[in-house]
Amino acid sequence: MDERTLIARYFSRPGRRDSSVALGIGDDAAVVHMAPGYDLVIATDAVFEGTHYPPGIPPAAVGHRALAVNLSDLAAMGAEPLWCTLALSLSHAEPGWLRDFAAGFFALADRSGISLIGGDTVRGPPGAVVTVHGRLRPGEALSRSGARPGDGIWVTGHPGEAVAGRRSLAGAGEPAGDDVRRLRQRFLYPEPRLAEGRDLVGLASAMLDVSDGLHDDLGKLMTASGAGADVDAGCLPLSADQQCAVPGSAIADALTGGDDYELLFTVPADREGELGRRAAAWPVPVTRLGWVVAGDAVRWQLLGKPFRVPDSTFRHFA
Ligand code: ADP
Ligand code: MG
Repeated sequence: MDERTLIARYFSRPGRRDSSVALGIGDDAAVVHMAPGYDLVIATDAVFEGTHYPPGIPPAAVGHRALAVNLSDLAAMGAEPLWCTLALSLSHAEPGWLRDFAAGFFALADRSGISLIGGDTVRGPPGAVVTVHGRLRPGEALSRSGARPGDGIWVTGHPGEAVAGRRSLAGAGEPAGDDVRRLRQRFLYPEPRLAEGRDLVGLASAMLDVSDGLHDDLGKLMTASGAGADVDAGCLPLSADQQCAVPGSAIADALTGGDDYELLFTVPADREGELGRRAAAWPVPVTRLGWVVAGDAVRWQLLGKPFRVPDSTFRHFA
């Protein structure tokens, strides 16, 4: 299959109209209309087999993931998604794989309101690089640097579920209960918290999405803000599935497992009521883990005693 046929068959969807796209897939570059009064927000993330996901996972999950990790970055800025490009690397063009990859990619794209406007297709190690474009009003961006002592530290969802699911995929041949199957879904189909990120505009003082692990990413948030944190591992929102499937490692998973794509953010103490009102409509819980403090140390405690975080965080270049 040549590149043109592949793109026409799986990626260009001429029937779908997005009035903001003047020229989409098929020309040398895409041309889009930017609405006046908005800033453009851009992020790019790569997902490669063996590095970011294990070989053999469903192709729909690869397509979903390639876009989801990028949408999660837009969510963490409080931005609204608009357009994306997809640079796809394939060792060979297998029709069934491509069909399922595209189905996973477009299912998430369509419900997130983002249009695929171009890309590239190359022979190489299996993986994809997606670039997303989004928008927000000037001054709305939720950066990592705005946390101040006295702010509460909050997280969405159940960090640690994804790594437990990922670990269990290694023994995928074995029979799995409902709890393990749900954890696997959490790893295979991470949900970018776009609506929640938008709701936090004008309320959160700092935010990022948790991709490398809660402890590591909290460190990044505090370093960027020039502050420290007092946090309680006893407050971690461990789900029933985690407690059931991996009772011994649920806390360690929550602190050091990656791939959660939950939002970690800070909110001034006097605005917690407002957070409660906005979060009441969310499909995920939101939990306060502790407080921003002066200094630069991130201190975890459990049952009133200092808690040492196990050192198993994913390192990009160790
Ligand atoms: P060029 O040689 O100019 O880079 P290509 O033949 O690579 O052009 O691409 C043709 C068109 O298809 C371009 O509009 C490009 O953006 C788009 N495209 C290529 N690969 C993909 C892909 N995997 N997904 C979406 N669009 C793609
Ligand atoms: Mg090209």
